Amino acid sequence: MNTVPLYAGIDDTDSPRGMCTTYVGAVAIQRLQRLGCALLDFPKLIRLNPCWPQKTRGNCAVAFLVGCPPDQVSEVKEIVLKTVEELAEKDDRTNPGVAFMSKKTPPEELVTFAYRVVKDIVDLKEAESMANKLGIETHKFRAGNGVIGALAAIGHPLTNDFTYELVAYRTPENRGKPRKVDPDSVKRMDKLTSPLTFDNLDPWTGEIRITPHTPCPVLYGIRGESPAVLKKAHQLVKTGEPIERVQIFKTNQGTDEHLVSAKIAEVSPLRSYSIEGEIASKPRIIAGGHVIVEIRDSTGTIHCAAYEPTRIFRTVVKQLIPGDRVIVHGGVKQKPSLPLTLNLEKIEILELAKKTVKRNPKCPKCGKRMKSEGRGKGYVCKKCKERAPPTAATIEELSRGIRVGKFEVPPRARRHLAKPLQRELAVKSIIEF
Ligand SMILES: [Zn+2]
Repeated sequence: MNTVPLYAGIDDTDSPRGMCTTYVGAVAIQRLQRLGCALLDFPKLIRLNPCWPQKTRGNCAVAFLVGCPPDQVSEVKEIVLKTVEELAEKDDRTNPGVAFMSKKTPPEELVTFAYRVVKDIVDLKEAESMANKLGIETHKFRAGNGVIGALAAIGHPLTNDFTYELVAYRTPENRGKPRKVDPDSVKRMDKLTSPLTFDNLDPWTGEIRITPHTPCPVLYGIRGESPAVLKKAHQLVKTGEPIERVQIFKTNQGTDEHLVSAKIAEVSPLRSYSIEGEIASKPRIIAGGHVIVEIRDSTGTIHCAAYEPTRIFRTVVKQLIPGDRVIVHGGVKQKPSLPLTLNLEKIEILELAKKTVKRNPKCPKCGKRMKSEGRGKGYVCKKCKERAPPTAATIEELSRGIRVGKFEVPPRARRHLAKPLQRELAVKSIIEF
């Protein structure tokens, strides 16, 4: 049958009280399939700039491409809009936006826009004028901020690095109740499919990470390198409640796409960076158990913070000393009255400075440590009356207790966009499952 391509993008349908844009997308897709439309590719789940102050809960937008009978285009659009209207949270802070593009391949300008929405700040006016120029139809609900993410989701090509997420949704009567997912089955699934699946469990606490803690329709989401491994993993998870539907999304989650390599002088708030530099201060612990350390490069100095929920990661940061060479990764938030602070997501220790201690010389007769006679006055052994000049002191190197390598915050504190170190084990070329 002759069909025309139609791309739909949806964003900002959820609130902390519920809903999830992926669910709105999954329901719309099913309704279009019933009408006779074919899904032409995996729907996309695009995570947007995590530092954006107006962000929704997970700041994710969804887009999908369908092949649609030419005489049904307006009906298809109507179904998508009705689905958003019906399912989106009715809340002043939820401002859904929908976009439609009647092309298979996003134009270059839309691709560039999509990357900017992941790494930078874009306003609604700019988004709308670009959509007008490119002939993309947009629909706003309330303030309609979701138009920005809806356009970004259509435009994102997911051609560099990408992952997949399989989402299983709950039936309406169970939403808001405790999720019934068998933890032992998740542990077994992790054992059999990791590292091609990731973030199933917290490696330190064993806590199950595939179930959210919000009243949204998601029962669980499994993240991985390929649709095949996710289908296998899904079969291994046992639940004590029915699953309404399952949808696999192709996504920029777990790719570090939000990070921009920069010098400290180039850093501005509300964006995320990778910065290479040298530790410039001793780490200090502030109220709440957060660890703060300064790093510098040739252009300036910036504070870096490891927050309390990052737990074990803080112990690595606490052991840094001035002179250590590192690459820090994380988002920079704006807080009035505080210096610019990068919230550490990951740290790569390139080179450790020597940690030394100056020690008094040993007495050549009795072998005991000699006593200092005061600054610049040399040493004496009280027992044997042996003397030594100030230069006799020895410099001893201490063990550092940490090693060169990469360290990351645990999954519970990790951003959706952050690339887990575990993914570096799951090389794309071994995705044949
Ligand atoms: Zn002595």
